[in-house]
Amino acid sequence: MKSTIWNRLRPVAIAAAFALAACAAPPQPVGLGGAAVPAQEGRLLLLAARVFDGQSMRQDAGVLIAGRDVVAVGSAAELRGQGAREMDLGDATILPGFIELHAHLAFHRIPADVVLRHGITTVRDVGGPLLAASGGDGRLRLLSAGPILTAPGGYPIATFGDSEVAVAVRGAEEARRMVGQLVEGGAAVIKIALEPGGEPGAPWNNTGHGHGHGGGRFGPPWPLLPPEVVKAAVEEAHRLGRKVAAHVGESRGVELSLDAGVDEWAHIPCAAIGDGLLRRAVEQGVKVVSTLDTLSGCAGAHANAMALAKLGADFLYGAEIAHTDVPWGIDAQELHWLRQLSGMSTQDLFRTVTAKAGAYLGLAPLGTLTPGAPADFIAVRGDPQENLKLLEYPDLVVSGGRVVANGHLSVTY
Ligand SMILES: [Zn+2]
Repeated sequence: MKSTIWNRLRPVAIAAAFALAACAAPPQPVGLGGAAVPAQEGRLLLLAARVFDGQSMRQDAGVLIAGRDVVAVGSAAELRGQGAREMDLGDATILPGFIELHAHLAFHRIPADVVLRHGITTVRDVGGPLLAASGGDGRLRLLSAGPILTAPGGYPIATFGDSEVAVAVRGAEEARRMVGQLVEGGAAVIKIALEPGGEPGAPWNNTGHGHGHGGGRFGPPWPLLPPEVVKAAVEEAHRLGRKVAAHVGESRGVELSLDAGVDEWAHIPCAAIGDGLLRRAVEQGVKVVSTLDTLSGCAGAHANAMALAKLGADFLYGAEIAHTDVPWGIDAQELHWLRQLSGMSTQDLFRTVTAKAGAYLGLAPLGTLTPGAPADFIAVRGDPQENLKLLEYPDLVVSGGRVVANGHLSVTY
């Protein structure tokens, strides 16, 4: 039984992992083909039936880790006998930790360690209090946009009130100044809201508080930032080396975002968008973050996703994490919808959530299991290509060479 193999190896894994975590020495070069050498403290070779290295799925392969880094990836035959502790996970799949590009952990009070235990090792928080980059050392690697730039009274202030999730800017100068302050405070990206509201099925239209009642909340239409203010924010962000993600849900916001040259849509738009605008987005190289699980009630999101895919759009994975019906981590529903509607292969899907996201964040080789990459990875029993749901409950999660979850399903052994 596979489970007994895992059960037998589990204590070894824990012991090896603690040794690994304690080792701060730089990785030693890997000697190939030499005589067997004694196990070196802090070097761990994990073998499995499948290893996804960020680009392709290798069969009967392994990952060699030393301290906080990946040292080598290759076939089991190449990597065995190099003096590292060896663990064979058997019928399991090792993958880089997944990267979530659209979440609001602080705003939704989502515990970072829960997210990490469910397979996400890096989160980009796009709307909430500004947080300096942190983690990657046994803690969730966290990047932040800080508050979303919007018009006075605009979304999301319109729905959530004057909170840390957004900041109103009045004019181009103030937009530039605010972008400068956010970057100075550690913002990894600038987020801007271009949302007049009113799209059928949009979650942001349904605050549960009705329209015009209490707490500063009121219904659409919400004011939008004027084009020159959006342009000023984008120009300043680009000047300071930051990308701009725009919340868009319908055609007016989409047009504003394209006119200003944003880098990314933080959602596939909720309302159906005409082919002309979608084509412009693709031609301008706008990346599109999925959030299809969040938008499941939207009238136009699925059609937009399929039309964008046909036009050759570049999708990124974002799931917002705070859903009530799935664990707070990897969201298999999001993965399923992204694969289904974009028509991408399962390996492309895995690339999108790992290597592509790491490169997009400017943090390559984060999101890969290649030499020099941080040892952020997960392992699941079985083959997640056959069942994406396995990814929501990883059997092993390692962040920066430190084990943070190890066989938490052991209660069922
Ligand atoms: Zn969001």
